Order: sequence, then structure tokens, then C-alpha cells
Amino acid sequence: MLATRTPTPRGAAPRRPRLGVVKFASCDGCQLTLLDLEDQLLDLVAAFDLVEFAEASSHRSSGPFDIVLVEGSISTPEQAEEIIRIRSQATLLVVIGACATAGGIQALRNWRDHEIVRRAVYADPAYVDALATSTPISDHVTVDAELRGCPIDPQQLLELLTALAVGRRPQIPNEAVCLECKRQGTVCVLVARNEPCLGPVTHTGCGAICPAFARGCYGCFGPREAANTGSLVAWFGRDGRPATETAALFSGFTAYARPFRSAIDDLGGPPGPAAPAGDTPSQEVGGDARR
Ligand code: SF4
Ligand code: SF4
Repeated sequence: MLATRTPTPRGAAPRRPRLGVVKFASCDGCQLTLLDLEDQLLDLVAAFDLVEFAEASSHRSSGPFDIVLVEGSISTPEQAEEIIRIRSQATLLVVIGACATAGGIQALRNWRDHEIVRRAVYADPAYVDALATSTPISDHVTVDAELRGCPIDPQQLLELLTALAVGRRPQIPNEAVCLECKRQGTVCVLVARNEPCLGPVTHTGCGAICPAFARGCYGCFGPREAANTGSLVAWFGRDGRPATETAALFSGFTAYARPFRSAIDDLGGPPGPAAPAGDTPSQEVGGDARR
């Protein structure tokens, strides 16, 4: 998977992997995580040939890339075409952040009538050429790796780039936030304080920040593998929590990730006005959503 290094002719300087950072519909927060690696930035620039990173450099490249980091969801027809071009130019394509891995907070529109949303948000929607859905990159092209979070965790990004630089597999754990709480000795907010918490079904990576401050996790890292959302929803129900409250809890940055999306659908949809009769949340583009 990580074949980013090519043999170097004797006497020649090693070729650095060509790295690109591109964005689609997003707030740029995940790209900024790379710039926030201040102590490691010079080492990273020495290890990679940073050929495309509009946030940081006026030097631009349309490819080819050994590695491309992709931020943001696919929300416009142009983006749906551009991600296919980017994929064709990249040996490894890594998606970063909740927008790119799950569609982002903007994917809440996927449950709504597109025209109503456009008219509510924009003064003159005639100038806005947006898709009816916001979808993750993996709905459109093959993805080689993903970093979760809103924004991504700097240490996970550093681990990924370090691993790619030396040609080894990144060590990105896939476990629940709960395990991080246990390791840190954080008292469980669900059990001790009856705080609704998505920690049992959420991918680790943040360091279990929210429970450490005595508040429940709202799932910004998205579902962990084999997340048992049904069990957690049943727990909340036995606790007397209304279905609308539980649906709202799942309706955050990663609402459109498959297990969270299913939970929201089972609970009657996200908060807000319902979609008109006949509409479903499945007006997807780009084929099968794998989450
Ligand atoms: S995942 Fe969060 S921080 Fe990253 S681009 Fe999207 S909204 Fe911004
Ligand atoms: S919402 Fe959950 S995953 Fe996100 S920072 Fe808080 S504890 Fe971590």
C-alpha cells in the first residue's frame, strides 16, 4: 500500500514523495492541523515535496501526486468531476476529517428538500449550483486511508505522514472513545452522571476530550468499526430519553456515516422540519455509500 519510495540512482539525492493537499466543501480546519504541526513542519517539508497546498503556498500543481490529502465533502457537480481527476493523479489518496470521511455537518441537508434548504440559506439561490447531497469522498472514488475527526488529530496526522515517509503502515487505532477514557482514568459520564454519550460507538483519536471535561461525546470522529448503535439507542430509550433527543445527539458532524445515519433514520430523522412526503434521505450521487 505504501509504495511511495522509488529507487534512487547511485549518487543522486533521494526523490521525495510528491505530496498534495486539496479541499472540497469544508472549513479548512483539517488542513490547518497540518500547519499547526509547527515543531515538525520543517522535517515534514524536508521529507516531502509539497507540490500542492493552496492554503500554504502559491506554487500549484494538478499532479501527479504520490500522496494526496483530501479535505471536504462532495457538494457540487464540479467537485464530483474534480475528485475523479484527483484520484487519477494520485498513487495514495488519504481523506482527512469528518467532511471528507462522512459528508460533514453539511450532510444534514441530505434529509431535507434541497430547494427549501437553498432558499433558506442563500439570498439568491439561482447563483448556487450545488448538489442535493453532501457525500463523503469514498462515495465517489477509492480511498486508501482516512483520518477521522472535526478537525483531525495532529498526532494521528503526524503518525500517518511519518509512516508514509518511511514506507510503513500507519498505526491508527480503531477502538471506541470509551477505551481512551478507561486508560486515562476518566469517570464514565454515561454511568456516573447520566450524560448522553456516544463514546461507546465513536472512533477514538481525540484523546476522549469531552468526557474528560464531564460532557458526553457527540461523535465527531464518527462511528468506530462495527459500532453497535442499536444497543446504545436502546440504552438511551430505557433511560427514558425521547427518540428526538437521541436522534439529535447522532445528528452532528458525522450524521451521514452509515451506522449513525441508520440510527437517525430509525429514530425518525434529524431535528428540524421533515422532508416532504415521498422524499427520502437517499438522494445520493456517486453510487453506494459504504458506511
Ligand atoms: S472536518 Fe471539521 S475541521 Fe475538518 S474541514 Fe470539515 S468542518 Fe472543518
Ligand atoms: S465529540 Fe467525542 S470524538 Fe469528538 S472530541 Fe469530543 S469525545 Fe472526542
